[in-house]
Amino acid sequence: MQEKQFDIVIIGSGAGGGAAAQELSGLCKDGVRIGLLEWGPKFRESDYTGQELEMAQKLYFDGGGVLTKDKSMTLAFAKAYGGSTVVYTGTSLTILKETVARWGVPGITWEDLKERSKKYISQNNVHLLEEDKINDNNALFRDGCRKLGYRVEQFPVNVKGCQGSGMCNLGCPNAAKQGTHRVQLPAAEKNGVQVVTSCKVERIGDRVLEAVVADAGVGHPSAWAPGRYRVRAKVIVVAAGAVNSPALLLRSGFGRSLPALGRYFTCHPALILVGQHEKPITNYYGHPKSFYSDHFAESGHFLLETCMYFPFTTAKNLAGFGPEHSRFMSRMDLLQMILVLAIDEAAADNRISVDGSGNPVVDYTLTSATLDSLYESMKVCAKIFFAAGAAAVHAPAGKKFLIKAEEAGRLDEFITRDELKTGKVSIAAAHLMGGCRVGENSAGSVTNVWGRVHGVPWLYVADASLFPKAAEINPYVTIMAMADRSAEDIRRRAPQLLN
Ligand SMILES: Cc1cc2nc3c(=O)[nH]c(=O)nc-3n(C[C@H](O)[C@H](O)[C@H](O)COP(=O)(O)OP(=O)(O)OC[C@H]3O[C@@H](n4cnc5c(N)ncnc54)[C@H](O)[C@@H]3O)c2cc1C
Ligand code: SF4
Repeated sequence: MQEKQFDIVIIGSGAGGGAAAQELSGLCKDGVRIGLLEWGPKFRESDYTGQELEMAQKLYFDGGGVLTKDKSMTLAFAKAYGGSTVVYTGTSLTILKETVARWGVPGITWEDLKERSKKYISQNNVHLLEEDKINDNNALFRDGCRKLGYRVEQFPVNVKGCQGSGMCNLGCPNAAKQGTHRVQLPAAEKNGVQVVTSCKVERIGDRVLEAVVADAGVGHPSAWAPGRYRVRAKVIVVAAGAVNSPALLLRSGFGRSLPALGRYFTCHPALILVGQHEKPITNYYGHPKSFYSDHFAESGHFLLETCMYFPFTTAKNLAGFGPEHSRFMSRMDLLQMILVLAIDEAAADNRISVDGSGNPVVDYTLTSATLDSLYESMKVCAKIFFAAGAAAVHAPAGKKFLIKAEEAGRLDEFITRDELKTGKVSIAAAHLMGGCRVGENSAGSVTNVWGRVHGVPWLYVADASLFPKAAEINPYVTIMAMADRSAEDIRRRAPQLLN
């Protein structure tokens, strides 16, 4: 086992880890040694081939299909220099004031998160795309919502020189999307942070951790040779994401004094809904996600967003199979898509645990409230597709594969709650939150409001696992803002922590 030593070690390089690395990197000029250990590799530009199955295997844990324990839902999150920001779509929203009020954590205010979010929105070149970059798939959603009187907004996105290739979720092949791999990590490295890729942290002990470097077979080689490492550090910052941060802390034994560790996991369970037009529309080309509607956020607990998925993902999300399915799939140029995100409650029993080998198990039950939201959203989306001129709609809980435009008045008859069966309908999630929630004490939370683990002064969390409840919008900007708070507390306490 080789020995290494830093003053501060950050584990994970996604939205949270990237922000924390950049914010702490200013300490390097004072001689503070900072290391960032990232499980995934750093991809070369030529690695982004745009091939769906190949890229899914390279970029995501389990190819983007990590199953929950009851197998009713798949989770997508990435393993790379840049974490899930390499595959995110880059929609960049600031958390709502009402949501922070619902979080109800004394010491976490909307004004503070908003100020910190502004910094990352500026660094990441967030702006609204020009009208001529909006493709038909997006424009039809906007127009359909407007016809029906549903509130609809344009998404600010974090791109620079977007060429509209539509590949965002396979890693942008045009270096346009401004994830942490393009912005915060290079800035941190320039200031002196050492990033070690292909390095999995297995366990954390008292100011020490064990890690393994393995050749990923893709991307740039790691800064360290393959092998096992014992790494000492005065401060350890866990930013391995909402599944892996709780899992790492649990297998390291921190669950004994932290009963909330792993609990209150939320994920905005999502459905992909599809309408079919008579004539081809532009859908694959263009930025995939330009509009959203929070019209039903309060009344129905769901959000609607434009989306365009690749053939394999689309095919697996359709209910049914056989000739109807294959006919539908053979004309993808006719398809319009909407992503529904249910706003799920933070329940103590929805949690990350670890199996006998220390691997994460996501024990998440879709509640009937969440299923009700998804059911209502199918009818709302069918209305939007028809208002946008679709000839037919596929509803996963439909009594028939396609509902025709002339049947638009009979949605209650054709889309029924009984048909929404977990296991039959493909439900996926990519907004993974909670598990190390912030709060006042160790009875109901894992860290204090600055991301410091209760009772362990040298251990911090700085990622989506800090969320006490769901973000109720796309979360990455808020994750960076929360990580920013953790970094600020470490900087403030540096004299006592690092001496
Ligand atoms: C397909 C997709 C699209 C999305 N689109 C958007 C969007 O448009 N807007 C938005 O706001 N959000 C979006 N999100 C969500 C957003 O990307 C995530 O919420 C965010 O990146 C999570 O940040 P994080 O730091 O918590 O974790 P991650 O970004 O997932 O980073 C965690 C990192 O830790 C590493 N790691 C894990 N375990 C270990 C270990 N033991 N040792 C070392 N390293 C480890 C992982 O490899 C990973 O790189 C999307 C997500 C996906 C998957
Ligand atoms: S649409 Fe834009 S941001 Fe997305 S992959 Fe293409 S060039 Fe990159």
